[in-house]
Amino acid sequence: MRTLAPAIAISLSLPAVSPAQSLREPPRVMPVYLVPRDYAVPLDRVPYHVGVVDDVRRWYGRATGGRTFTSEPLIVQVSRHTFAELAADSFQAWWPLLQSEFAAYGFPWDRRSKIKLVFLTNGAGAWAGADSENGGIDSIGAAGRTDDGDWGGLALIGDSSAGGVLAGVCPEDAVPGTGERGRGGGTAWWCSGTTYRGTLAHELGHTFGLPHPDAFRPGFRCADSTAYSQMQCHWEYARERLFDYEVGHLRSLSFFAFDTTPAFTLLTDWPAESAIRWRRARLDRGDSLTWVDGRGGGTGYPWAIVLVGRGATATYAVTRSSSLLALDLGVRRGDSGIAAVRFALDGKPVALHTVDAGAPPVRVTLDVGSARQLAVEVTSGDVAVVLGNPRIYRR
Ligand SMILES: [Zn+2]
Repeated sequence: MRTLAPAIAISLSLPAVSPAQSLREPPRVMPVYLVPRDYAVPLDRVPYHVGVVDDVRRWYGRATGGRTFTSEPLIVQVSRHTFAELAADSFQAWWPLLQSEFAAYGFPWDRRSKIKLVFLTNGAGAWAGADSENGGIDSIGAAGRTDDGDWGGLALIGDSSAGGVLAGVCPEDAVPGTGERGRGGGTAWWCSGTTYRGTLAHELGHTFGLPHPDAFRPGFRCADSTAYSQMQCHWEYARERLFDYEVGHLRSLSFFAFDTTPAFTLLTDWPAESAIRWRRARLDRGDSLTWVDGRGGGTGYPWAIVLVGRGATATYAVTRSSSLLALDLGVRRGDSGIAAVRFALDGKPVALHTVDAGAPPVRVTLDVGSARQLAVEVTSGDVAVVLGNPRIYRR
């Protein structure tokens, strides 16, 4: 049996770092497709939501002259709450229940964190809202001069549009001749692919500290304006822009340090140099989700590498532009038992994690530094180990 180097033993004794507080990953949006515990997961909506988030990320790049936020890969989270609990009698319980649920999972958005939690929420119908840890700017002159919106945030949007579009009931694109001044859009936000994207962009804008423009321009209305902002008129998403002060504020935020090139590469898109008892699941190939239990009703990963049993290994050549590996680690649904997983850089073990069936997924981040090779190996245990949404950030 291989003995552990002291450095590894030390790292094992460290308390787990709250994932939201980890300084290693950049300020980021964390998109969650949230499904009530007693609902079936609408698998066909998962690729749709992945596309929506990426579309909005790129839209911000166009609206700001090239800068945008980065987003973690989407996860599917089955809530610990049922639909009746979340909807309650007034449909307002989504908000407090989900924020306390995710704080319990290690993702508090309102305690000096650098994550914007975005819930695309199955069953929440026509419900949308947002909040930001330190509020929004209170004047046009404050734009770009404060950290308003540069800390944690929360946005919640019902996913009725996705269901409607996929069922052919709601239009994906704007309907000409409808909407404000006939600019298109025209369908209610909860039944339009276009407006759904606009709603996500709008609610995210609130989390970044942008209020509605009529807060500063009393009486401002989309209907009698030739200037449009996603923060006021988000019905025909693709044509909306942002006002100059909004762009200036966004570009001042730590969240907007990225160009529109994805900030990371999914490890599932990299060829493995060598692999033993290894498989990968990629959403874009139509694979189903890979599930890990232990958090609420389970966590589904659109992208995953699965290593099956002791000795299973995947080795990757790391490129010079790599900086940080991030992933969730757990045991695949249906397996029982414990496994140890070792991460090595250039042949040297740098981290060892224990995963237990039924325990919540563990967030793993690892500085790749100047290493040229990354290896992940299951060193003990007889279960399938899941590397959920594994990604390597660019320098
Ligand atoms: Zn609003």
